[in-house]
Amino acid sequence: MNPSFSSYLVNDVFGDPGVYVEVRWSKRALLFDLGHNDGLGPTRLLRAGEIFISHTHMDHFIGFDAVLRVALGRGKTLRLFGPTGLIDNVHGKLRGYTWNLVDGYPLTIEVREFHGREIRQTSFRASNGFQPSERATVPAPPTSDPLFTVLEDPMFMVKAVTLNHRIPSFAYSLEEQFHINVNRQKLHEAGLRVGAWLKDVKHHIWEGKPDDFRFTVPLYDEHRRVEQEFMLGEVKERFLTISRGQKIVYVVDARYDEENEAKIIQLARRADIFYCESPYLDCDAEKARDRYHLTARQAGLMARKAQVRDLVVFHFSPRYTGQVEALEREAMEAFQGA
Ligand SMILES: [Zn+2]
Ligand SMILES: [Zn+2]
Repeated sequence: MNPSFSSYLVNDVFGDPGVYVEVRWSKRALLFDLGHNDGLGPTRLLRAGEIFISHTHMDHFIGFDAVLRVALGRGKTLRLFGPTGLIDNVHGKLRGYTWNLVDGYPLTIEVREFHGREIRQTSFRASNGFQPSERATVPAPPTSDPLFTVLEDPMFMVKAVTLNHRIPSFAYSLEEQFHINVNRQKLHEAGLRVGAWLKDVKHHIWEGKPDDFRFTVPLYDEHRRVEQEFMLGEVKERFLTISRGQKIVYVVDARYDEENEAKIIQLARRADIFYCESPYLDCDAEKARDRYHLTARQAGLMARKAQVRDLVVFHFSPRYTGQVEALEREAMEAFQGA
């Protein structure tokens, strides 16, 4: 199976936390948290159009400037999602600079904050000197589930849960609605080639078009342009395999307590990759709790309970410089039940 998402840590395990997710076969990427991120370089920073913030402690937000700098002057809408206070924090960042010569710039920054019962949204436009638009407030759909939807896209869904870090800290899951695999051999046998038309087919499926939906596909005849009509259901049956989608979960900055643990396990259930902070070794569990952070063993235990496939631990405290292996071993032993 060719996975649709390719994800990795923005920095090394002692660096500022963050995960970058490339959406394959599109020029699209998602970014979880905005710590120091110069290492991504301008092309990847520019590609990250949707950014999910856990909370705005400095190590999770100082990289806002780097993204702003590459996006400025490009025709782009940048969308930020996060907890209460994000709008004010973005406004504060923007107010730190002088904007008298950007009125011709097309950048818009949309910020969406999730409060238990409502969602607040504001946009900042370069053409307006980044003055905030009036805040729009919409009621959040009522639910008893601690998980809530932050972004719904035809291809994937981003959900969040609020964790206790003495302030709200959001943990996120990114889930592909389902995965579409193309059987190239069968395409070839039918005289069809891989091309842009397959992308259209995927969009038809993501949009939920019915099986009798008809469309034309170009056939590659060397001498003339030929098209053949297909029904969506026929293409699915002959050339595609539709399976469970990929799931990636990002958890940072949270205390280990019963409530946080239950929420994290629910969010991470059966994830393919579980990125989980583990700043402390378990011998310092008390310190971790005082600072509202997790230990490596706690991360491993939760990964085990959530039955994830892979665990990646990171956001290590500098006190363990030179002890990467000890932190990783502790997490893996708890994860594998050794
Ligand atoms: Zn924090
Ligand atoms: Zn942190």
